[in-house]
Parts: sequence; C-alpha cells; structure tokens
Amino acid sequence: MTTGAPRFAGPGDLHLHSNHSDGTETPAEVVRQAHAYGLGTVALTDHDRTTGWGEAGDQAVALGMTFIPGMEFSSRHEWRSVHVLGYLFDPTDAALVAETNRIRDDRIGRAERIVRNISRDYDLTWDDVLAQTAGDATIGRPHIADALIARGIVADRGEAFDGVLHPRTGYYEPHYAPDPLTAVRLITDAGGVAIIAHPATAGRDRMMPVAFIERLIDAGLAGFEIEHRENTEEGKRMLRDIAARHDLIVTGSSDYHGAGKPNRPGENTTDEGMIARLIDRGTGSAPRYPAPGSLSERSESK
Ligand code: AMP
Ligand code: FE
Ligand code: FE
Ligand code: ZN
Repeated sequence: MTTGAPRFAGPGDLHLHSNHSDGTETPAEVVRQAHAYGLGTVALTDHDRTTGWGEAGDQAVALGMTFIPGMEFSSRHEWRSVHVLGYLFDPTDAALVAETNRIRDDRIGRAERIVRNISRDYDLTWDDVLAQTAGDATIGRPHIADALIARGIVADRGEAFDGVLHPRTGYYEPHYAPDPLTAVRLITDAGGVAIIAHPATAGRDRMMPVAFIERLIDAGLAGFEIEHRENTEEGKRMLRDIAARHDLIVTGSSDYHGAGKPNRPGENTTDEGMIARLIDRGTGSAPRYPAPGSLSERSESK
C-alpha cells in the first residue's frame, strides 16, 4: 500500500467557507470539522480570496486528509448572482488577482451603502459590521446579518436574509462582479478547474439559460456542483443531462459556513472518480496529500 503515487481516500467535500470570507470559523477549524464528519478530502472555497489555503492545507495534512485549494468567484449574469468555484489555479496569476481584488474592494463600499440604507430605519452602524468581520475577510451580507443579530434586530442569518437583507426590502445594493464568462476564463487561464456552484437554486427561471451554459463550457467550464441542498430537483435533472452530453465533472458539497448556515460538512459529497478528474485537470497549484503512514492510511487498512 506504498505506491508513492498521490492518493486520497473516500468521498470529499469541495465547498467550505472560513472566516476569511463569510464562514464563522478559522480555516483550521473548518478542516477539523470536516475531519470530525469523516471526510477524507476537503477544499477551502472562500469567496474571492485564497488567503486561507496555507492554514487549511497544513491542518488537513496533519489530520491525514487531502487538501484541494479552491475559491468561490463572484460573478453576475444579467440579474443573477452566479458563483463559480475555481480549484487548483495559480493564486498569483496577475489577471485573476486583479479581478478578485476589484471585487473585494467594491464589496466594502457596497456593504457600507447597505448599512447606510438600513441605518435610516434601524440602529446599526458600520462599526457594528466591522466588529463581526475577521481581519480583512471578504465582506458580505452575512457580516451585516451578524451585526443585526448582535444588535438584537434579528435572531439569525436566515431571518436577516429573508427580511432586511433581501433585495425586495429596499436596502439592498449590488457589488461589482464580472460576467461568468470572464470568471471561467480567468480561472481556466490560471491553470484552474471552473465548476458552477449551486447552479439551480431557485427554479428554472433563475437558472442561466442552457445556451449560455454551453458558451461557458466552450470557454473552459469543467462542470457543475449538482448535489447541493439549494439546487432544485428539476434543476439537478437538467444539469445531469447537460453534464452527460458534454462529459463534465459533477460535484456534491455542503457549502459549510460554520454557525452561519445549517449546512453540515459531508451532507453532500463528491466521489473519488470525480476528485481524480478534478486533480488531473488542475495545473495551476497542487493538491496536498497526507504523508505516507499518516492517519488516513492507517484507517484505510483497518
Ligand atoms: P453577498 O455575496 O454579500 O450578496 O452575500 C451572499 C452570501 O450570503 C452567500 O455567499 C451565502 O453564503 C450567504 N447567504 C445567502 N442566503 C443566506 C441565508 N438564508 N442564510 C445564511 N447565509 C446566507
Ligand atoms: Fe457565502
Ligand atoms: Fe455560493
Ligand atoms: Zn459558498
């Protein structure tokens, strides 16, 4: 059982968030949670940033797990927010770094505008939001939600998103985000693997048109995150059909955000064959494997 070849054990969870974006735990804590839920392979996919990779990778390897570096890239198609998961890309790629810096910078001004709007009706300040934000985390509505919770205005993030933070309530402001074609090209050109996150969250009308998805495939899109608690059953069927026709990678993941969402690590998983295809395709950065003789190898052979 010592071939020297890279290997990984069991299904993986390829979509988890730390407090480098809108999760509530440090990268190492996120990996420890994934381990506690029995996962052998894990990816950290914070929104628009890669700063958690080192800490998460170190913890994964120490626990005998395989680590796949990732990110969830914010893009927009017409009115739809489209999240593109990127894996195994070069985190120093100049074009990709410039675009994610631009998104993160604009997210700050946008969050300030949302808070200013909310403060017309509620007792909420920008300092309240900063108090909920770790370091220079990618800021988003979840941090505003946490500030609303701290102020006693809502009970949890879900209530905040259903009410004050929902676009229909009138306080919402958009942030800069490029077209999904740009996101797919930037990830792919940086040696990465682009997978659309939760592509079918709210029914057919909210899903990108199939013709546009096919343009993304032509631009290098590698696959879809199909098993995700927010994808509709009808959407999953359509996605499986497109994936089969184009021989795409299909993944399943939790989208864990710590205490910020009910999602638990491993509630959906990606099988070993798909993880192998992802690793074969990604050339911009390397997965990290546990050392021979580490925990996972021992548990594999028992
Ligand atoms: P933003 O990118 O700032 O517009 O915020 C969107 C983020 O909020 C997503 O990445 C989700 O993780 C999170 N989110 C959306 N809806 C909910 C919800 N109902 N409960 C908790 N978090 C949510
Ligand atoms: Fe999020
Ligand atoms: Fe997302
Ligand atoms: Zn996510």
